[in-house]
Amino acid sequence: MLRQVAAGVLVHESEFLQSNAVVVQGPTGVLLIDAGLQDHEMACIANDLSGLGQTVVAGFSTHPHWDHLLWLADLGTAPRYATARCAAAAQDQLSEDAKAEITAHLEPTGIAERVPLDLFGLVTALPAGAAEIPWDGPLVRIIEHEAHAPGHAALFIEERGVLVAGDMLSDVLIPMLDLNGTADPIEDYLAALRLLEGVAGGADAVIPGHGSVGDADQVHERIGRDRAYVHALRAGRVPDDPRIGPSAQPGWEWVGDVHEGQVQRLAQRNAGS
Ligand SMILES: [Zn+2]
Repeated sequence: MLRQVAAGVLVHESEFLQSNAVVVQGPTGVLLIDAGLQDHEMACIANDLSGLGQTVVAGFSTHPHWDHLLWLADLGTAPRYATARCAAAAQDQLSEDAKAEITAHLEPTGIAERVPLDLFGLVTALPAGAAEIPWDGPLVRIIEHEAHAPGHAALFIEERGVLVAGDMLSDVLIPMLDLNGTADPIEDYLAALRLLEGVAGGADAVIPGHGSVGDADQVHERIGRDRAYVHALRAGRVPDDPRIGPSAQPGWEWVGDVHEGQVQRLAQRNAGS
């Protein structure tokens, strides 16, 4: 079910990983950001929109990870945009082999057969460095940066006071660095947080890719918490972070393993350099 989080901005939260799909209302239809995961959930969004007399006039994927590149035919045939680098990375995942890998990866979760891959990854690249999403609704600024995934983009809808953070600023997931082939994932991540901080003053709500929607205070708190985590990683300290260890929310205990994995991979990178 769609839930309003700001004037003209609605969110659908998935049962899986608390993934958030975001709807922004415009004069002729809606922009749908990171449409969602399971077929029945995307069908629910399509159904809610048709109940509101709205159609999807544009889509956007914040980054090229499988859970942000999905789509369902019921949502229509509007262009689905992504940054140029996100679209290039999505392109590499369109083969049947790559899709089979996603399905195999999902097997242990029990939702593999509910994740439709027919329209997976069919995004349209925006020009490199595009500053906004081309549509007739409220201005949606693209804040592209190097963090988490190639071409990762947060979106800032100033008129509605909403920051859509992609896979950053989550209350349940720690910063997950892009450790594949990037020269300096730690500094990249810190630079990305500074970009988000640059618009945080105008945000009354932050919507992370996974986790709960936060209010104006949360925007600043989450930036500070993510930065503190990355600083701890850089210094080789054990982070004092509520998202890992005994204070992790029920069902999210595995985030501690993600942290351990990052520590190891960073150590390997440093040893190799
Ligand atoms: Zn991601």
